[in-house]
Amino acid sequence: SEFTVLDADIDDGAEGEETGQAQPVLAVVGRPNVGKSTLVNRILGRREAVVQDTPGVTRDRIAYDALWAGRRFTVVDTGGWEPKASGLQASVAAQAEIAMNTADAVLVVVDASVGATATDEAVAKVLRRSDRPVLLAANKVDDERLLAETASLWSLGLGEPHPVSALHGRSSGDLLDAIVKALPEAPRDHDRPAGPRRVALVGKPNVGKSSLLNKLTGQERSVVDSVAGTTVDPVDSLVELDGEPWRFVDTAGLRKRVQTASGTEYYASLRTKTAIDAAEVVIVLLDASEPISEQDLRVLTMVVEAGRACVLAMNKWDLVDEDRRHQLERELERGLVRVPWAERVNISALTGRSVRKLAPALRTALQSWDQRVSTGQLNGWLSDLIAATPPPVRGGKQPKVLFATQAGIRPPTLVLFTTGFLEAGYRRFIERKFRERFGFTGSPVRINVRVRE
Ligand code: GDP
Ligand code: GDP
Repeated sequence: SEFTVLDADIDDGAEGEETGQAQPVLAVVGRPNVGKSTLVNRILGRREAVVQDTPGVTRDRIAYDALWAGRRFTVVDTGGWEPKASGLQASVAAQAEIAMNTADAVLVVVDASVGATATDEAVAKVLRRSDRPVLLAANKVDDERLLAETASLWSLGLGEPHPVSALHGRSSGDLLDAIVKALPEAPRDHDRPAGPRRVALVGKPNVGKSSLLNKLTGQERSVVDSVAGTTVDPVDSLVELDGEPWRFVDTAGLRKRVQTASGTEYYASLRTKTAIDAAEVVIVLLDASEPISEQDLRVLTMVVEAGRACVLAMNKWDLVDEDRRHQLERELERGLVRVPWAERVNISALTGRSVRKLAPALRTALQSWDQRVSTGQLNGWLSDLIAATPPPVRGGKQPKVLFATQAGIRPPTLVLFTTGFLEAGYRRFIERKFRERFGFTGSPVRINVRVRE
């Protein structure tokens, strides 16, 4: 049979989606030795960033997760960037330019014990054009005597200088308050409603959905009428699997074994979509005894596009013989290119074969769906990957990946901040390597690219 193989699930830098919106990014800029790394450490509240006394030394890790007053954001130390500009002043000004175009807010750090230098003025000149909030930190104000120097920094035209001592921590709380106030509100990871996790059971007609539901609910004590603190929608079923209650969404039709008349495929598909949207994890049933069809692939596409975790159940395994198994392997190889990450369970709703393997697979998929990789870890891994295999040159230009952050979960969403377009093939390569390193079995992973020239 023929398959339509769609492009991998990669978005082209779409911003402001319902999920996966980036946690806000704060870029820290300033001359070497003003105390940027020390201040970043202060902001992170731990010694993660590397402080180097040698100016101009490239730091290998540049982006980190910060949390202040319940607000999550990404801190980027632009000291790790190497713009092409030659000369210190031009290079720091170029960093400020990138920061301004990349971040949601910029923190410029000046050494108050030195006062504003020509380089600081050059940076300020760039940042005065910024349409993002800019905060000015007057660092190395270790004691009262330097407060007067701080006031002189008003001359930079960047608003109020915030005196701080990164080394001793003086006033860093006030600075952090100002930072979170300046950053745009990021949508929090929507808290999961309490209660059993929501599962959809989908697949084309006659694949065995109601048989499977009956098998699952037929097991002793498996249908539960209530779970403490949960109200069950009448169209859902609470099912106990592996000692844990699960909410199978939108199963009313399956329970009643409503026969789908021909010509109602549109409604069947609408119903499938509704169930997928209502669920956190989806069991996609495929009929292992028949060739994989367009309809199967459409269902898989819906799951991936909805960003739901997924388990593939190859049903009617009792009908699969040696020959069919080999054939199926080939079909799956071509048919499942969009979901190579999904776990496959070979079951028979009729005999009950391996049905008990579904619950662990669902759990794994949900763990991946909820998983978060820290910005520090992500960038450490990514900079090695990119150094080994840089993005292909496009239009004579080599796109650079400045940093990345995992913007959200459910589904896990990465945002790559780059200086140029990354081809779909390269983004797929990144996704493949990301999965090799961090797992995420059973969950789609979205990769958004934010291009900043
Ligand atoms: P960066 O190059 O801007 O990242 O600067 P670093 O964070 O590497 O700091 C440069 C030097 O300034 C280091 O020796 C720090 O210990 C020192 N330093 C940083 N913050 C302060 C501060 O608040 N007070 C004083 N006295 N020294 C500081
Ligand atoms: P639904 O339309 O997806 O709900 O599918 P049904 O559960 O109504 O099943 C359609 C047909 O496939 C019925 O005749 C079932 O008995 C049969 N069936 C379901 N699961 C299996 C299975 O694992 N093995 C075999 N041999 N038949 C099955």
